[in-house]
Amino acid sequence: MIRVKFSLVAVAIVSLLGSIAAQSAIAADEVNLYSARKEKLIKPLLDQFTNETGIKVNLVTGKADALLKRLQMEGKNSPADLLITTDAGRLYRAKAAGVTQGFKSTLLESEIPASFRDPEGHWYGLTLRSRPILYVKGKVNPAELSTYEALADPKWKHRICIRSSSNIYNQSLIASMILSSDVATTEKWATAFVKNFARPPKGGDRDQIKAAAAGQCDIAIANTYYLAGMLTSKDAGQRAAAEKMAVFWPNQNSRGAHVNVSGIALTKAAKNRANAIKLAEYLIGEDAQRWYAEKNGEYPVRAGVAQSGVLKSWGKFKMDSLNLSKLGELNPEAVKLMDRARWK
Ligand code: FE
Repeated sequence: MIRVKFSLVAVAIVSLLGSIAAQSAIAADEVNLYSARKEKLIKPLLDQFTNETGIKVNLVTGKADALLKRLQMEGKNSPADLLITTDAGRLYRAKAAGVTQGFKSTLLESEIPASFRDPEGHWYGLTLRSRPILYVKGKVNPAELSTYEALADPKWKHRICIRSSSNIYNQSLIASMILSSDVATTEKWATAFVKNFARPPKGGDRDQIKAAAAGQCDIAIANTYYLAGMLTSKDAGQRAAAEKMAVFWPNQNSRGAHVNVSGIALTKAAKNRANAIKLAEYLIGEDAQRWYAEKNGEYPVRAGVAQSGVLKSWGKFKMDSLNLSKLGELNPEAVKLMDRARWK
């Protein structure tokens, strides 16, 4: 009787050891991700990746600038294999800081247009974010609108809301304008544009939309995912504000509306290189693209992925096809220019 009990215990111990061994084998198959995107915008996708591949994803989320600083401080001892952050200007900064490395992927190169990835493979765009002109319905006739450049016209005096020049989205927009013309032309434009501000810049993109809806200005410059987020918000006030606004796609007869990316980079310190590339490739898959872009009201970077209701309602538009890596190069020039134009 005792012997039977003992052998049962032995079997139990052996099977327990077996499952621990199996688990640690899976745990060794992992990848470490630093993400400047909120957990809810990416975690479900990472869990699905783990389910399909058995590769565990250790996620660290934080503010973009703090994560970059952390990567720099950790140097080659950094546990991070991948960095996800928003704006080509920030991805460029990570590359310039020496915390990323170039890698090749036939899949990423074939699915992501060349303008939305680093020429040396230091980062690849995952979603697209547009920054068009938003106007208050009934107060602005869309026939009066045309380009970003035309917003410097005195007829818009005290009618425009936009956030401060310290914001990277605006810096990248100005960098794209420098690239399409030159510094002198853009500076002249910015000086006139600032005179059309309805108030000194304050708050984020959502605050510009709210100010316009509240009657403080007729035009707001903001990324569309903020408008999408407000339209689907649980907060009735936000929904009401967003419903007063319409989207105008500028520069459609020339270079196209300004777009930017959220993107992924392989860190220089990456120890799980193969798994990291596998995850980057997973995120460009059709299902992942649909979920990842829609979750934040952005546009998939991969062609041919269906769009959600809100995005569809704003229609198709021509995107500026300049190589976004140039925006980072021109960032210091853009910042100085906005300063000279007295854009606070
Ligand atoms: Fe944002």
